[in-house]
Amino acid sequence: MDNYKLYINGKYVNGDSGEFISVENPADRQIFARVPDGNQADVDRAVAAARAAFPKWSALSPEERADYVGKFADYIERHKDEVGKTITSEIGTPVKYVYGLQVVSSIEQARYYSDLARNYSYSEKCGNNIVRKEPIGVIACLTPWNYPIYQETSKIFPAIAAGNCIVLKPSQLAPVSAYVLSEAAEEIGLPPGVINIVTGRGEQVGTLLSKHEDVDMVSFTGSTQQGKKVGMMGIESNVKKIALELGGKSASVILRSADYEKAAVGTMMECFLNTGQTCSALTRLIAPREIKDDLENFMLAFVKELKVGDPNEPDTRIGPLASEKGFHKVNRYIRLGIEEGAKMICGEIPDDYENGYYVQPVIFTDVTNDMVIAQEEIFGPVMGIIYYDTEEEALEIANDSIYGLAGAVFGDEKEALEFAEKIQAGTVLVNGGAFTIDVPFGGYKQSGIGRENGKCGFDEFMEVKSIRIG
Ligand code: NAD
Repeated sequence: MDNYKLYINGKYVNGDSGEFISVENPADRQIFARVPDGNQADVDRAVAAARAAFPKWSALSPEERADYVGKFADYIERHKDEVGKTITSEIGTPVKYVYGLQVVSSIEQARYYSDLARNYSYSEKCGNNIVRKEPIGVIACLTPWNYPIYQETSKIFPAIAAGNCIVLKPSQLAPVSAYVLSEAAEEIGLPPGVINIVTGRGEQVGTLLSKHEDVDMVSFTGSTQQGKKVGMMGIESNVKKIALELGGKSASVILRSADYEKAAVGTMMECFLNTGQTCSALTRLIAPREIKDDLENFMLAFVKELKVGDPNEPDTRIGPLASEKGFHKVNRYIRLGIEEGAKMICGEIPDDYENGYYVQPVIFTDVTNDMVIAQEEIFGPVMGIIYYDTEEEALEIANDSIYGLAGAVFGDEKEALEFAEKIQAGTVLVNGGAFTIDVPFGGYKQSGIGRENGKCGFDEFMEVKSIRIG
């Protein structure tokens, strides 16, 4: 078993408490690594290192910083197989997908933000005045486990490219893959203190960072429940800048003009991706009532072909859930769906997790949007089909959610685009548009504040200064 250290001020150091958090492989429930259980002393050391590094790092030219960020891409690319393997061990993403789903986007982000930082307009004339963009200072990055490296680099690359120094607290469920960033930092000679990693628990390290008076911004990705607390702590302590990327309950609408088979496949792929553990998963399928029988027969045949099992097998499409906690949560929601009167047309109530946290994909039909399973984020391979009579009703159902992270529409392109404009969500797929890192990602309503990716994701990590010239 590997024991890890904290990474502070360019050095691997022991955690102050001497305590560790065990990291479990959800496919076989074996502990394969341990990371320090960080505490106040560790957080203080890391924040101080980031603060000390900030003056010199922020004074480098954008080109110099862009060079460093670009080099992360080469490092991760050279180590892509190890990173993929680690993520499969941490959260069970099947080897068939792990590189494409979990690793490649971080390489793209490093290249994208390296280019953007070089070509960005940091200062603009506005009449007689000047509007400048400046780095913020010390940024705490709190990240979830479901796309570990991608979520970390969505924050770290734009943040450091913009001239900030960061303290990363990766998820305690998937902290090991984050060390590719410290390894890369070492190899490329990143100045000490620009990137620091403090592992630990959310309620400990996450809280300490959110409240820390020498942290200028907290960039959080995780659940809406915890994000609200982080936002409150960040504001109450020292009015930190807050960026929140939170949960979702996204709808996929099949218009009457759609090819329903294509729509069903597109929705199922987005829903069951990463074992349903994706913030933007399309978990509510909203379809015209008259296609019910054909749609469900088609979906049943498709789901039968999705192999659930050991993520290390090359043909596995759906691996285990990432944790025991997630397994019990999904189990509870499946039982609740049945109690609420939804009809489970495939899947089963998962009970046995002795050999890993496996769950067969579940499709509920006859779901109504007021059911808890249509309103709350389940975070497992569970989809609910809701039927509509009119397209106005379909839109109402799609928007009837506290969340607004993503959505999808399938149909004649012109009609689907018009419909997409009315969906209250930060990202809407029209006929299955592909994910790219150069466009903003984030949520309306309780799905968050701010945007990651693209130019918006760079702006997020800068203060704006107006210089008024008399
Ligand atoms: P989580 O909210 O439990 O934790 C997220 C991170 O914050 C972890 O590092 C955790 O240790 C830390 N944390 C937890 N409670 C904290 C607290 N009170 N104070 C400070 N830090 C705290 O979420 P999770 O289970 O790791 O991730 C799953 C959630 O993340 C889902 O709700 C999913 O939708 C969401 N998510 C959103 C996006 C997005 O871009 N909008 C992307 C991925 C995941």
